[in-house]
Amino acid sequence: MIKIFIDFDGTITTQDVGDAMFISFGGDICNKYIQEYRAGNLTAVDCFNLECHACKGTLQADLDIFLDRQTINSTFTDFHRFCKEQEIPHFILSDGMDYYIKRILENNGITDIPFFTNHLEIVPLENEIEILFKPSFPFLDENCNRCACCKRNHMLARTADDDIIVYIGEGYSDRCPVRYADIVFAKDELLTYCQQENISFFEYRTFSDIKSRMQMLLSHKQSKKNNGLHKRRQAQLATRDVYLGG
Ligand SMILES: [Mg+2]
Repeated sequence: MIKIFIDFDGTITTQDVGDAMFISFGGDICNKYIQEYRAGNLTAVDCFNLECHACKGTLQADLDIFLDRQTINSTFTDFHRFCKEQEIPHFILSDGMDYYIKRILENNGITDIPFFTNHLEIVPLENEIEILFKPSFPFLDENCNRCACCKRNHMLARTADDDIIVYIGEGYSDRCPVRYADIVFAKDELLTYCQQENISFFEYRTFSDIKSRMQMLLSHKQSKKNNGLHKRRQAQLATRDVYLGG
């Protein structure tokens, strides 16, 4: 069975909503935290905790307006429909926050894609106008703190040995999971990473590109041609290492 895992920020949305939200409400210091995190000087959890702390005193109304202005790639809803028609299970994996992911998906009429991410509780202050950002991290990996929500673990937990894992992403938090995916769709920073690491990938700009490629792979499968829909050897070895505790 084919299973598709999709990054949210910058992949489904047109910009990185998490980064933009923290910089908008927490100020430039959040940009510094993000750089420190990317440089490996802060764990993801420490970075989120600092960013959330910097956002204290945000007005609920301002947050709502900001989130309701966020846009998704216009081809995503059609891709979602395609996956449903083809009965391909698809999931969102994000090292962002559920509060905005849920709101943005709902704003676009999407309520039926499972998503796995960090939790952000919005706590109203006594004046009932200002809010506190209270993050929590239910999906940390016990041995790795590069991400707060471990995409690899979700992906491997939701797939069997003979499933074909498709991963769609663009950025930093996609670097780890693509190592375990059989078919990778990459753009931007992730594309460069895949080139550097010799991970084979399809370049995409929109979800229409991905749909076309998937249609081609599926039609090859029906005609039993040798095609790209097979397990990737390097991904199988990487997965085996995880289960062996390597
Ligand atoms: Mg992203």
